[in-house]
Amino acid sequence: MKLAIGVAAVTLGLGLSFVSPVMAVETEKEPILANGQSLDELRKHTPGISTDELKSELIKNPTTILLDVRTLEEVKLSGGIIRATRSLSIPRGWLEFRIGEAVADKNAPIVVYDDDNQRSLLAVLTLKRLGYVNVRNYTDGFPAWKKAGLAIEQPDLALNSFLYALPEKVADGVWSAIGQTAPSTYENSGHNNNLSFVVTGDGVVVFNGGGSWLLAKSLHDEIKKVTDQPVKYLVLENGQGHAALGASYWQDLGVPVIAHEDAAMEIEERGDAIVTSAKRRLRDKFYGTILVHPDETFSEKKIIELGTTRIELQTLGPAHSPGDIMLWMPEKKLVISGDMAFHQRMLPVFEDTDTAGWIETWEAFEGLGAKIVIPGHGSPTNMAEVTKYTRDYLVFMRDKIKDIIDNDGGLNDAYKIDQTAYEHLDTYEFLSLRNAARIFQAMEFE
Ligand SMILES: [Zn+2]
Repeated sequence: MKLAIGVAAVTLGLGLSFVSPVMAVETEKEPILANGQSLDELRKHTPGISTDELKSELIKNPTTILLDVRTLEEVKLSGGIIRATRSLSIPRGWLEFRIGEAVADKNAPIVVYDDDNQRSLLAVLTLKRLGYVNVRNYTDGFPAWKKAGLAIEQPDLALNSFLYALPEKVADGVWSAIGQTAPSTYENSGHNNNLSFVVTGDGVVVFNGGGSWLLAKSLHDEIKKVTDQPVKYLVLENGQGHAALGASYWQDLGVPVIAHEDAAMEIEERGDAIVTSAKRRLRDKFYGTILVHPDETFSEKKIIELGTTRIELQTLGPAHSPGDIMLWMPEKKLVISGDMAFHQRMLPVFEDTDTAGWIETWEAFEGLGAKIVIPGHGSPTNMAEVTKYTRDYLVFMRDKIKDIIDNDGGLNDAYKIDQTAYEHLDTYEFLSLRNAARIFQAMEFE
């Protein structure tokens, strides 16, 4: 009890000392608030975690929540936030108001940080008072993390839109809103894949509905700023939620939705599960979203000719997930690859991902001769880059796992594969071990 009272006084005092120099002078009357001892005292009693410990914690326990309590301006100026599977940005002043909705589980492991190890200490205290029992303070602070060259990421790049980032012009008439290279979260509104559009001179073709009705509408708002031409088609890269869930927005406007027949099957079979998990993540941001089915499907190729623009929608073979298609523009040598190609983040191997097939299909993909690649995830680039992080990663993992199987090794050996050559990729902490396990389990039966 005694401790709790002391703590409350410290919180109050430090709160005041941040307000203005005038207030700071006033606090000098109270030794406990002014002599600088109180923060040190608090530090001694607050469970802390160092840079090295935090680094291994994020790999061992990717569900640990990283809570940044700096203001958004500070985050922007400092260059980002610590990259983690579960990261939260709640400025210190808003903590009591927003933490309850963001973290319902009082036992969840939380690590709090700021720039200078001051507000984070107080935030730990606040969280404890609110009943969170597994809270630690990152003692080195964000600058130390950044200086050590460890993974950071940009928070929302488009604060006035549900999109994570606004569309950027990739080539004449081709635009893409690049999603966060991270899992889908409430914070990124589910915009974690690329939502692209092609302005043809006789209408617009949109590639991907996005993970919700609001994302589809947000993209449309941006399309209207680029052109007053109407949207003629919506194309889905596959049957995943972040491709298909926004389709209801476009169908309501009378825009036909095109997908591969396997993607349509995926939506049919897994649609309810997709809706349930997206709803859980996006909560109020799931507003208006309903699952709809494509209006038109194809099995190999579909040509769209609008004005003088030729667009080829095609599947080249098995890749990341059922019904993966790409949008190929032969004149521009530009491909919107869908989940065939990944950039900047580690690719996820799903239970139904055919890694051997994907490597084979890659040959046909390279055969297109694309000069510009808008990948499924990550910023626009060229073939060499996506080859490095998609095909070459698959080949690397399959070679290692083949060795393990040939030497009668087991799943444990697969977990031990040294994947550090890919450590700099986003979602590495979250996916590297899972990918090793999935590929091992699949290859055991090949
Ligand atoms: Zn994807």
